[in-house]
Amino acid sequence: MASLRCRRDLCGVICIILTYFSVLYADYVVIKYVLLPAYSGSVWCALHGSAFNMILLLLLACHFKAVFSDPGMVPLPDTAIDFSDLRSQSTRINERGCEGWTVCSRCETYRPPRAHHCRVCQRCIRRMDHHCPWINNCVGELNQKYFIQFLFYTGMASLYSMLLVVWAWLWRIRTERDGDPEKDGDETPSKHLIVAHYIILLVESVLFGVFVMVIFYDQLVSIITDETPIEQMRNRVMIKDRGSTSPSSSSSQQPHLPHTRKPKLALLREVFGRGSIFCWLLPLHPSPPSFGGIIYSSLPDYDV
Ligand SMILES: [Zn+2]
Ligand SMILES: [Zn+2]
Repeated sequence: MASLRCRRDLCGVICIILTYFSVLYADYVVIKYVLLPAYSGSVWCALHGSAFNMILLLLLACHFKAVFSDPGMVPLPDTAIDFSDLRSQSTRINERGCEGWTVCSRCETYRPPRAHHCRVCQRCIRRMDHHCPWINNCVGELNQKYFIQFLFYTGMASLYSMLLVVWAWLWRIRTERDGDPEKDGDETPSKHLIVAHYIILLVESVLFGVFVMVIFYDQLVSIITDETPIEQMRNRVMIKDRGSTSPSSSSSQQPHLPHTRKPKLALLREVFGRGSIFCWLLPLHPSPPSFGGIIYSSLPDYDV
């Protein structure tokens, strides 16, 4: 079993607690104030309750995997790198057929192309997308699948709870208008409390729903264009720098060119695995060849 790791980042811990609290609150309101009153005695109560809780269960499972999985940390060398020879080391790496490998001076390790240093994790992460406080972890080559699944199920749960609340609210208005004697008078809990819960859950669902759908879209675009947000930003800055400086002062850093020649499905399979699309929705570890990541046993024999 993979060791559980959790960063000691206050913002990340607060976001994780907020996530669990929001999920529990949504479940509480949906069961107690939406399904039980509006669908009491109906088979729809059990059906909606099971479906909603199944989505929440998958959401939490994906979140757990995204939080505690290794995002693709570049292993640290056993011995310290000699930084006095940094330039010639980089050249030597390229000579040995490892084009694009660089040295990270902050975590003192050799890193493969597309790996970037995360200041929060204090490590280099393979194909780092960004550091996400909501999972208190980096989104990288090995956990991006779980992160996207988490976004997907959060979006589904938000949409589902919105529909259930709106339906229950309309049902309440209709029942009151029809003058159902059971619903009049000293209702427990009070009408104001129920409406307050409905409004809070609606606001929560809209906020989280819109937020995760925007990130979900960005994630899919970054996969099918084969360019992480870090690479997009760096390339933009480098193009701007080139425009403002003379061609003779060329930088040693080359922009990452997106591998857009790969078919979109192949790029998606690199993240979600080679299994069926149904497996893409489950927080299962994809088959090893699907990641096509760096096999560290084949590291060249660096002189460190
Ligand atoms: Zn680093
Ligand atoms: Zn990080």
